[in-house]
Amino acid sequence: MLIIDDNSCLVCVGCLALCPETALYHDLVSLKVRQELCSDCRFCVQFCPVEALSIGPGTDGDV
Ligand code: SF4
Ligand code: SF4
Repeated sequence: MLIIDDNSCLVCVGCLALCPETALYHDLVSLKVRQELCSDCRFCVQFCPVEALSIGPGTDGDV
């Protein structure tokens, strides 16, 4: 599952366009993820300039 560090995220939204599953979105205040759509591909993790994203244990909601 994708973990978002809200304290680091700048909501630059650069990662949104990279997500092949359209799992990322934002509410103008913070970045959000639809865990049920995320495939743990890590594209967004590798892109984020401030390392606000990481992949935690568990996939498909089986944490
Ligand atoms: S690329 Fe990083 S800083 Fe930008 S919105 Fe995504 S998680 Fe936040
Ligand atoms: S890990 Fe992949 S599927 Fe999940 S939010 Fe990031 S870019 Fe999208």
